[in-house]
Amino acid sequence: MYHQTVIYLRPWVTEDRFNIAIKVTKPDANYDGSDRRMTLKVAVIGAGAAGLGAAWTLVKAGHDVTVFEKEADVGGRCRTFYWRHEWLIRGAAAFIKSEQNLIDVAKELGIYRSDLIIDAQKQHKWNVFRHNQPVVELDDFRPADILMCQAMPLKEKIALSTMFPMLLTQLARNDPRDPTSAARLDTETACEYFSKKSPFFVNYILEPIMQTFCGYGKDDYSLAWLAWLMAGPYAWATGWWQCAERGVGGLTHNLGLAIDREPTGSVQTGVCVTAVSEKGNQVELTRVMNGNAMSEVYDAVVVAVPGNMVPRIVTTLNDDERRFFDGVQYVPHHICYVSITFPFEEEVNLRRVLPTVEGFRIVSNFTIRPFGNDTGEHLLYLEMKGDGCEYLSGKSDQEIINHCLNEIRQVEPRLHTAEVIDTYVQHNDSALCRRYVGYTELLKQYRDNAPSGRRIVYAGDYLISSSVGQAHYSGLVAAEHVLRNIGQ
Ligand SMILES: Cc1cc2nc3c(=O)[nH]c(=O)nc-3n(C[C@H](O)[C@H](O)[C@H](O)COP(=O)(O)OP(=O)(O)OC[C@H]3O[C@@H](n4cnc5c(N)ncnc54)[C@H](O)[C@@H]3O)c2cc1C
Repeated sequence: MYHQTVIYLRPWVTEDRFNIAIKVTKPDANYDGSDRRMTLKVAVIGAGAAGLGAAWTLVKAGHDVTVFEKEADVGGRCRTFYWRHEWLIRGAAAFIKSEQNLIDVAKELGIYRSDLIIDAQKQHKWNVFRHNQPVVELDDFRPADILMCQAMPLKEKIALSTMFPMLLTQLARNDPRDPTSAARLDTETACEYFSKKSPFFVNYILEPIMQTFCGYGKDDYSLAWLAWLMAGPYAWATGWWQCAERGVGGLTHNLGLAIDREPTGSVQTGVCVTAVSEKGNQVELTRVMNGNAMSEVYDAVVVAVPGNMVPRIVTTLNDDERRFFDGVQYVPHHICYVSITFPFEEEVNLRRVLPTVEGFRIVSNFTIRPFGNDTGEHLLYLEMKGDGCEYLSGKSDQEIINHCLNEIRQVEPRLHTAEVIDTYVQHNDSALCRRYVGYTELLKQYRDNAPSGRRIVYAGDYLISSSVGQAHYSGLVAAEHVLRNIGQ
């Protein structure tokens, strides 16, 4: 049976074209002549950075891997779409340069080249808007950049520098892949802690930047999570990369294609998994495509969907798992695109971050830049605060755009005379996992109690932190678990 070679044609449609692949399923290289099959049959649910990372590792190890993705395209929160003149992002834009696991993937895919992966640091420079005062400039969210911020009063800089003993203690214990290494600080929100030291830092740096990165309000991130970030992944990070086309989505797009090209790999989009349960030495999975449900068994399943969706899919969670997954919450973080023309000649290139303390409740940041070659159009790109999304929940896209434009016109009055050509609202209702006070402790209990040898394995950014690199890394860990504990 395993020595059979099968050749078949498989059509699939991507956003921009119709494709046909000729796939040859090769004989099982691991077949040892006995009845024991050494190649594992694995399903991966979710084709985000985490699921694709797990699938690629397992496919490279020779296993039979099928990725099921409910959307029409891979990438999850890194997905892109073509709108008017360009590929635009639905979620993540860039990845942190120090994420070696993503650089390794880019090298394997042959896209780690200066024309294909470009420096995105400029787009990440923060210019925080204040009425009738100069902007607050910040290069990056690193302790050194924060203390060098010119606009911050000296008295507050001195008070803020008292955070260093806490950060140094954290640095000594920090595991950059495990936020629970800061669990002892999971007692108050980061805003509570820093308000006592520097209201300027909270109002003009922390709040607007956390809203920009994540849509987070003041109760959405604990001191534990922020201290872990500041002592680890972001403290020494030196900038951002993105693919020349599709932002960081270029990476997931190519990874999806690479997995599907492998003889033992398959990526099936438009397929929603509705139930997964562990049954002895196998896992039963039910999926729905075009309204038709189908069940199948696998040796292992990697569940790489957002954490709050896990209890809806996995029917055999133990008590510890249920407690943890019931506690995973997300903030919304919508993105709006407005294509405009100005009634004057010069090009506008502007980026501003909008703090709540200056009266901005809806928009966290916006950029205006030329759009399309010689079209005369500009693109207004804006990201919304989580609180702003909740405040406008249930409103039409047009009403959302109107509210956003009202805020931005306070900063860029020329928008009053701009003609709106087209608009698009990307709704991200479950955008970033909340790291509320108590979450890090909950995550620690879950990690400490995770049973070894289980056949349903989890991956996703909520298990480490909300970045493409960390999500992808969680997929590598899940694949490693399958290889070590099930593949032996
Ligand atoms: C607006 C925004 C901006 C961001 N900016 C950045 C940034 O610039 N840099 C950065 O590093 N990070 C950024 N992030 C965070 C980053 O996008 C995420 O941390 C990361 O992409 C999460 O990957 P994931 O694989 O864990 O989850 P996801 O990307 O959410 O993947 C989960 C996948 O599972 C699929 N799925 C869910 N349920 C099912 C089901 N039942 N059956 C089949 N498939 C299912 C989903 O459709 C999805 O494709 C941003 C996020 C947002 C929302």
